[in-house]
Amino acid sequence: RIAYVNGLYVPHADAVVHVEDRGYQFADGVYEVCEVRGGHMVDERRHMERLVRSLDAIHIAMPMSLAALGFVLRETIRRNRVRNGFVYLQITRGVARRDHYFPVPEVPPSIVVTARAADPAKGEAVAAQGIAVITVPDNRWERVDIKTTGLLPNVLAKEAAKQAGAREAWFVDASGHVTEGGSTNAWIVTGEGRLVTRPAESGILRGITRTVMLEVAQKLQLRVEERAFTVAEALAAREAFVTSATNFATPVVRIDGQAIGDGTPGPVARALRENYHKSAEIAR
Ligand code: PMP
Repeated sequence: RIAYVNGLYVPHADAVVHVEDRGYQFADGVYEVCEVRGGHMVDERRHMERLVRSLDAIHIAMPMSLAALGFVLRETIRRNRVRNGFVYLQITRGVARRDHYFPVPEVPPSIVVTARAADPAKGEAVAAQGIAVITVPDNRWERVDIKTTGLLPNVLAKEAAKQAGAREAWFVDASGHVTEGGSTNAWIVTGEGRLVTRPAESGILRGITRTVMLEVAQKLQLRVEERAFTVAEALAAREAFVTSATNFATPVVRIDGQAIGDGTPGPVARALRENYHKSAEIAR
């Protein structure tokens, strides 16, 4: 495997950044994960737009043109011969003596890109089974709209899920409403057949897959409500599912040990999953 690190393509085993990288010391950076399908990035444009917004929000200047960055992403995918899988991009504020203030003078941001193959059959098997989720209090900061590498609450929540025999944790805000998953956006289908997902204005990362699924839902003429929903509502829902670049739409069949609907993947999640790649932009 090959990784891109600050201008060089190096063997994955030798792909290192400095101990004084601010990503390492402060999680002072942002990232993107993009699906690779048939050797091409899925929704590259939207991922790059979100990257620009994340960088802007934490005041890191875009270190190279989007065209150059796109080239690096494609080259990393190519050098790893990834047909189906994922490409990971991380940009941190760079290497400087440890000090909370931004480095003066500015240092060049650190850029890392990795790509790896993933067997689509494995994801399909998980989706066919459905996953279990647990709920945990949302103890994150207010700027979860920024795709920062500062993911400790997400790591702890997902590990708690794993220890409980579940795959994902749903964060719940102080008013009892679900915000999102540790690495996914959360959805339910109500008893009346309405698709419900939280508005992106507060409490969640605006998932690219979420945005695409809203378009898919429109094409399938599903009734959609962008509003917050409670855990109680989710437990009483006909279906629940999660979305992300790595999950597409994956059915949730248990929440906190309680079966959702009949406890098997539902038709709405399945339809969204099946139609997803028709709506996602796959650049060729
Ligand atoms: N929320 C969180 C907290 C995430 O980490 C992710 C995945 N990066 C998502 C939602 C889903 O975003 P996307 O659809 O862009 O992968």
